[in-house]
Amino acid sequence: MSFNIARNGKKRVVIIGGGFGGLRLAQDLKKANFQIVLIDKNNYHQFPPLIYQIATAGLNPSSISFPYRKLFEDREDYYFRMTELRAVYQDENYIQTSIGKIDYDYLVIASGTKTNFYGNKNIEEFAMPMKTVSEAMGLRNSLLTHFERSVTCASGVEKQESLNVVIVGGGPSGVEIAGAIAEMRRYVLPKDYPDMNTSIMNITLVQGDNRLLPGMSQQSSAKALEFLKKMNVQIRLNTLVTDYKDNKVYMNDGTSIETRNLIWVGGVDCEPIVGIHDTQMGRGKRILVDGTNLVKDSKNIYAIGDIALMENVDEAFPKGHPQMAQPAIQQGALLAKNLKAIEQGKPTKEFKYKDLGCMATIGKNKAVAEIFGIKFGGFFAWILWMGVHLMSILGVRNKFFVFMDWVWSYFTYDRSNRMILKSFISHGMREIERHHLDNHWGDLKPNPKELEEMKDEE
Ligand SMILES: Cc1cc2nc3c(=O)[nH]c(=O)nc-3n(C[C@H](O)[C@H](O)[C@H](O)COP(=O)(O)OP(=O)(O)OC[C@H]3O[C@@H](n4cnc5c(N)ncnc54)[C@H](O)[C@@H]3O)c2cc1C
Repeated sequence: MSFNIARNGKKRVVIIGGGFGGLRLAQDLKKANFQIVLIDKNNYHQFPPLIYQIATAGLNPSSISFPYRKLFEDREDYYFRMTELRAVYQDENYIQTSIGKIDYDYLVIASGTKTNFYGNKNIEEFAMPMKTVSEAMGLRNSLLTHFERSVTCASGVEKQESLNVVIVGGGPSGVEIAGAIAEMRRYVLPKDYPDMNTSIMNITLVQGDNRLLPGMSQQSSAKALEFLKKMNVQIRLNTLVTDYKDNKVYMNDGTSIETRNLIWVGGVDCEPIVGIHDTQMGRGKRILVDGTNLVKDSKNIYAIGDIALMENVDEAFPKGHPQMAQPAIQQGALLAKNLKAIEQGKPTKEFKYKDLGCMATIGKNKAVAEIFGIKFGGFFAWILWMGVHLMSILGVRNKFFVFMDWVWSYFTYDRSNRMILKSFISHGMREIERHHLDNHWGDLKPNPKELEEMKDEE
């Protein structure tokens, strides 16, 4: 296997990851004189802020995903390859992926973060993360399967375990999924399962910090807490989950909760990349960059978005920027301008983050927002939250379907995507996946240390 992309005289920009940062960069380079190669392990761009609505059957996965090939269909010299980055060879200017190697003139790493299980193997194996569309589908299947099981099982203990939900992490994702499941308990489950005793279903949100939404103001944290309490979600602040075994979640205060539904949105970190040296990485294994997102000690490798750590450049953010959509998008946009400037021999500009604010929604008519320093909550924040997200989703068709699903559930209190879809992997797909693994290194000869690291990764 190989990339099969011929050089054509233009400089080649290889972008790893088509999330918010990578995609914005690729889109903004459309009129520049580059050959663009985007690689991603999925063949579609996803919209993480609405992933929790897939997990709770509010939206269809295709409404918040967009295939890269569709995005690039009319573009000359744009190539997409579905593959995973394996290693970067900085001195030789090429990367190794699961389909072979490709050389670059400029490399941009925009591969984001992964769920952090803080080294707890039981939690990693048995809890349900919610970082990707696929994981949200897995979470939806699992929740619905347990609800089905709760009405057929004979044991009272199993019934309680199947209905209880524990969410770990009180950031926006935790708050949003807790609110959505509470609404399901109130409006959907009694209709779907007339024989289910929803009054015994407990939803618990566990947060290590002393408040919810620690990235927002005290006022928004308090409002979110008030909303969730009204929705009968139990909140455990200043509490850490230490283990999960035999369908029980253990906390550091000595208590435990029985559940088969442990949702883990407790934090993220970055996957170290073979070939990016320890001296090039900072807090949370993020890659250290200068004000133009150039990786420390490199000449032509850039990192943008969640994986990049730009310290002591932007006055308002000396410890680096928040791992949110806007910094990634704005860094992608500026890097596109800077790469064009470099090619034209013009000066580059340093990144300055324009903070547009943040929001979180807890349920129907219930959200908190902080826009340009103005803090508000309730119905108007919720309307604003919907408007902003609707505008940000890629594709007119996707906007339309999300809007229709929202209108439908607003008036009917219903969530229409409650199917348990079991995945099917064909023999052919299995063969290709096996082949990808066999061909990690193509015709490269990695050094023994890198090979050991690769084996550990697998
Ligand atoms: C559930 C959830 C809800 C969120 N809600 C909000 C919100 O409401 N507002 C907000 O501002 N932010 C939100 N965020 C954070 C926001 O999504 C991220 O900050 C943003 O996506 C970062 O953009 P990025 O381009 O750096 O990385 P990502 O958007 O994460 O993109 C990374 C891309 O790289 C690909 N990739 C990863 N590893 C490899 C590899 N080895 N090889 C090839 N491809 C690879 C991935 O498939 C992905 O497409 C949320 C995140 C999550 C998970």
